[in-house]
Amino acid sequence: MSAWRPITALSFPQIKALQDRKLRHFVNTHVYPFSPYYRKLFDDNKINPAHIRSAADLKHLPFTSKLDLVAKDNPLRYMDFILHPDQEKIRKFWPKDKVVLAALKSLWMGNAAFKAALGKEYRPIFMTFTTGTTNSPVPFTYSRYDIDNLKISGSRMVSLFDVKHSERIMNIFPYAPHLAFWQTFFGALESGIFALSTGGGKVMGTEGNLTAMMRSKPSVVLGVPSYIYHMVRFAQDRDYDLSFIKKIVLGASKVTVGYKQKLATMLAACGVKDVLIFGTYGFTEARTAWAECPTECHLSSGYHLYPDKEIFEVIDPATGAVKGEGEDGELVYTSIDSRASVVLRYRTGDLVKGGITHGPCPYCGRMALRMSSDISRLSDVKDLNLSKIKGVLVNMDHFAGVLNDIAEIDEWQIEIRKHNNDPYDSDELVVYVTPKKDINEATFPDFLKDKLMGATELAPNEIKFVPLPEMLKRLEIETSNKEKRILDTRPKV
Ligand SMILES: [Zn+2]
Repeated sequence: MSAWRPITALSFPQIKALQDRKLRHFVNTHVYPFSPYYRKLFDDNKINPAHIRSAADLKHLPFTSKLDLVAKDNPLRYMDFILHPDQEKIRKFWPKDKVVLAALKSLWMGNAAFKAALGKEYRPIFMTFTTGTTNSPVPFTYSRYDIDNLKISGSRMVSLFDVKHSERIMNIFPYAPHLAFWQTFFGALESGIFALSTGGGKVMGTEGNLTAMMRSKPSVVLGVPSYIYHMVRFAQDRDYDLSFIKKIVLGASKVTVGYKQKLATMLAACGVKDVLIFGTYGFTEARTAWAECPTECHLSSGYHLYPDKEIFEVIDPATGAVKGEGEDGELVYTSIDSRASVVLRYRTGDLVKGGITHGPCPYCGRMALRMSSDISRLSDVKDLNLSKIKGVLVNMDHFAGVLNDIAEIDEWQIEIRKHNNDPYDSDELVVYVTPKKDINEATFPDFLKDKLMGATELAPNEIKFVPLPEMLKRLEIETSNKEKRILDTRPKV
């Protein structure tokens, strides 16, 4: 395991120095020589890789975006981002002393053994996809080296959550080539902690997951917010005693304070006292995830970053200008220690409020850089935000935030439809709501309309109450890896 403790004790200038050194080495020894995409990018833009000496020099490099990863006419475009080393490139691009060292190594080990070692470090052996429900998925590959990194980040999160060897983990993330499941799987493996990975609702069903849970009595449960919520409600309705749960870790979706509080209240009804709920953030292109440390439910420590593995910039999404500490903007990711699929200055499209801060974490004292957990994700933006309703662009993320936070709402779904299902008629917005018990059905629609109006300047045309079983079917919560929170049923013209 890579030493995490010394890194979390570094001062900010020490972190900067470490990142600059690693970036310099990474660009000149691995990326420029072996990445077909980036060598061309550097050459086309007449950038000498030796001039990238520090994180501040990154601004000379053009951004990489999702559009660069997918090319309509070339489904194998993602392969241009994979490092391809060979002896010829080593001789051509590495500095003389390193070439001599490599030659000596090759002599010492034998050419075949040297090639095998190179293959082990660089050869892709594993893959995860982006989880977007639209667009074609972008595959990201891992070599053995990257799997080791995945284990390292996983074990760092386990230590952030302060999970002891005597504790047990239950991994309810959907079993799929998606980061969350494997990050959890490898993190537990590396930390030497018992983990039961059920594959989620689609694989084992909610009853099956709960039976497994009652048998293994995990103190740590990880999964996507909507499914964990569904499982706890299922347990509450059947009077399960879940008092063994101490920590809930949520991934792959935005988590609001209101959601955390709702979940904590439901867990309390199942006998869970003082539960700690952690949010995490990760994305396919980074092949890693970051996490919050323990705080009370209404607080967030922000995500603790790995300054020895990556550099994050926060930029103005309109101008591309790099922002300062704690400022809002779009997150841009640069790897400084990976193999196989590699991206530099990757525009995530995710917007962070409160940016990145340094200095000791007020909750755990670690010095690692922290990123605000108030992030609007690209997947949300892509799938939801850019819905054009009634001719105006509507931020559906705001709708989701409001609906998730209202204590009286158990489940919800939004439908965007056309009046009379006529593609040329006006758009309509319908909110389906499964309320918690004891709400006033006569006054609730007006209350909800006001709330949504305040956040989005758009009032729904209709609010419909739906019983829970019907809502679960509508959402496909048990049958799909990602619930159908927003339905666009407008006929395509
Ligand atoms: Zn902390």
